[in-house]
Amino acid sequence: MDAPTPLLKSVFGFDQFRPGQQEIVEAVTAGRDVLAIMPTGGGKSLCYQLPALMRDGLTVVISPLIALMRDQVAGLREAGVEAGALSSANDPTETDRVLDALESGRLQLLYLAPERLANPGAQALLVRAGVTLLAVDEAHCVSQWGHDFRPDYLRIGDLREALGGVQTTAFTATADEGTRAEIMRRLFPDPPEVFLRGFDRPNLRLAFEPKNAPQSRIISFVKRRHGQSGIIYCASRKKTEALAAALSREGVDAVAYHAGLDPETRSDRQDRFARADGVVMTATIAFGMGVDKPDIRFVIHADLPKTVESYYQEIGRAGRDGLPADTLTLYGIDDIKLRRRQIDDSNAPQERRRADHQRLNALLAIAEAPACRRQSLLAYFGETRGEPCGNCDLCDTPPERYDGTERVQKALSAIVRTGERFGVEHLTNVLRGELTERVSQRGHDRLPTFGCGSELEKGPWRDVFQQSYALGHTAISETGSWSVTESGWEVLRGKAKVMLRKEKSTPKRAAQTRREITDPADAELFDALRALRTKLAKARGVPAYVIFPDATLHDMVARKPDTLDAMAQCSGVGAKKLASFGSDFLEVFTGEMPEPPHPARQQLATGPGGALFDALLATHATLTRGPDGLDKYLTLQKTTLAEVARQRPQSIQALARIRGMGDQKAERFGPAFLTVIQAAEE
Ligand code: ADP
Ligand code: ZN
Repeated sequence: MDAPTPLLKSVFGFDQFRPGQQEIVEAVTAGRDVLAIMPTGGGKSLCYQLPALMRDGLTVVISPLIALMRDQVAGLREAGVEAGALSSANDPTETDRVLDALESGRLQLLYLAPERLANPGAQALLVRAGVTLLAVDEAHCVSQWGHDFRPDYLRIGDLREALGGVQTTAFTATADEGTRAEIMRRLFPDPPEVFLRGFDRPNLRLAFEPKNAPQSRIISFVKRRHGQSGIIYCASRKKTEALAAALSREGVDAVAYHAGLDPETRSDRQDRFARADGVVMTATIAFGMGVDKPDIRFVIHADLPKTVESYYQEIGRAGRDGLPADTLTLYGIDDIKLRRRQIDDSNAPQERRRADHQRLNALLAIAEAPACRRQSLLAYFGETRGEPCGNCDLCDTPPERYDGTERVQKALSAIVRTGERFGVEHLTNVLRGELTERVSQRGHDRLPTFGCGSELEKGPWRDVFQQSYALGHTAISETGSWSVTESGWEVLRGKAKVMLRKEKSTPKRAAQTRREITDPADAELFDALRALRTKLAKARGVPAYVIFPDATLHDMVARKPDTLDAMAQCSGVGAKKLASFGSDFLEVFTGEMPEPPHPARQQLATGPGGALFDALLATHATLTRGPDGLDKYLTLQKTTLAEVARQRPQSIQALARIRGMGDQKAERFGPAFLTVIQAAEE
C-alpha cells in the first residue's frame, strides 16, 4: 500500500496516517494477528476500523468502555459506516436495529461489551454472523495482575476458537513487559506480530512547579484558558469540591467528580464534561478510564501523582486530537509525605512497597530534573531522546542554578541540632529565628542555628528543604520528622557541593500554545464554527467532537473554504460528513447556503475526481449541439459524467462502454473528453 487507501479520506476525512498506523493497517489487511501498543491518542481505533471497511464480513470489537463505544459508533454512523453496539446501555429499539443489520449481513462493525461474552446466545449469534476479524480494545484488561482486570476478557480466547480461530488483533496503551506477555499468552495461540509505538506525546507541554499559593495559581492558569476543557486532578474528594467551588466563583464552568458521589450525579457530570465545550472537571483519579474526549486542552495535577505511570496516564488524557495541550503538576513536601504514607499504609507486600517508593522517587527525579523534562520522562520508559524537546518548562526557561551548599548545610544542621524529630514548619522557624511557643518550650532559641537563616523568607526555606529532599540529602519519617541521610552528611561535612534551582519568583507565563488563534477575525470564525457544531451536536444528541473535532475546525479556519470542494480538503471532512454538514459549515465562510450540488458530483468531492467532473461538465455543455452548434441535440446524465470522472477511460471504446454513454455519444463527446482526462492526469 503506497498511497493510503481512499477510504482514509472518504470515510474518516484524514489525508495521512498518523505515525505507526499504516504498518498496523497493512499487517491487519494482510490477515496477520497483531498486538499493537500505542500511546493514548495515537489513533488505535483507526487501525481496526479501516481494515474492517476494507474487507467483507463482520468485525467484532470488544471494548470495556461503554461510553466510548457509543461515541465511536455514533461517529462511524455519522461517517456513513454500518456500525452498532451491544451493551447494557442499549435501549430495545437500538438492539433491534443492530440485530437486524447483523442478520441481514449489512453490519460492518459490531462493538461488544465483554459481559456479553458470558451469554451463550451471543456466541452463537456471532458464529452465524460470519465474523472475519476480532479486535480487542484495552487488551490489558485480560491481565489478572493489572489494575483494570476484567474477568470476562478471559472468554475471548474461547470466542476466537468458536469462530474457527478467526484473525485477532489486540490494542492497548499499557506497555510494561509483564502485561504484554500475558496478553500474548491469553489472546493468541501463536505469537502475533507486535507493534510497539513510541511513548512520546510531543503535543503535550510538560511543566512542574513547587506549590506556592496553589489555589490562585490554578485559578489564573484556568482563567487564561477560557473556554477550554480541562481536568484538575486532586488527591482528595474534599479538595475537588473546594476547588470546583472556587473556580465557579471566578466564572469558570467547573464541576467536581469523585467516587463519593452517587452514580447518577457522576454520570451526569461525566456526560456534561464530554459533550459541552469548555467544562473544567476537578476530579480524583476515579475520573479516568473511559475519558475519551479528544479535545481536553489541559490537565493539572493540583497534588503530586503517585507514580510516573499514573502521572503519564493522567496527563495523557489531554490533547488526544494531536493539538497542543498543556499540563502542569504542582508539588510540595506535604504531597511527598502523603504519598510515602499511602505506600507505607497499604497492605501490599514489602517488596511491592519498596518498588512503589522507587517509582515515587522516579517521579520526584522528573520533578527536580536538571534539564529537559521529556528526556527524563522518556528515559524512565526506556526511550532515549537525543535533543531537548523544546516543549517543556525547563526547555522554555532553563532554571537558574546557584551554589546552595551553604543553605543546605544550614537546613541540615537545623535538623541535626533539633534531634531529627521535627517537621519543616518548626525547622524553618528555628532557622529564621522566630520565637514561637514551641521554639521556646524546647529551648531551640538557644541553639547556634537559631536565626542563622533570617536572610530568607519562609517560602524559600521550604523550597530548600524540598530540594534537599528530592536530591536525597534528607529523609522524612512516617510521623513527618526530618532526618539527614548519608549523602546529607557528606554535604554537612563539606565534602559535597549542592547546586540548587532558583525558586521561580512569579510563575512563568506558559508559552503560547502554538495552535492559538491570534487574528481576532479568525477567533470569531472559530467561535462561529464551534457554535454551529454545538447546535448540530445537540440536535443529534451526540458529543460535539463527533460532528467535527477541534482539529477540523482549526483547519477550516486556516483554509477558509469557499466551495464544498475546498471544504472537502479540510482534515477530518469525509464524504458522508461533507454531505451532512458541509453546507452548514460553508455558510459560516460564505454567508450563504450553497446550491446543493448534484449527489453524483458531491460523492466525487472528496476525491481527485471532483475537478475532473467539473471540467467534463463544462466541456459537455459546449458540445450538446456538436462542435459547430449545428448537430443533433445530445446530452449526458450527471451520473454518467461522474462515472467517466471515476473511470478515466483512455480510449473512445472504453468510454463507449460506460453506462449511459453508447457509441453515438462517445463519438460526439469522446475526443474532447479524452483530452480533458489526459490533462487531469498531468
Ligand atoms: P486511541 O489510540 O487513544 O484509541 P483514537 O483512536 O481515539 O486514539 O484517536 C485519537 C484521535 O486521533 C481521534 O480524535 C481521531 O479522530 C484522531 N485520528 C486518528 N487517526 C488520525 C489520522 N490519521 N489523522 C488525523 N487524526 C487522526
Ligand atoms: Zn524539554
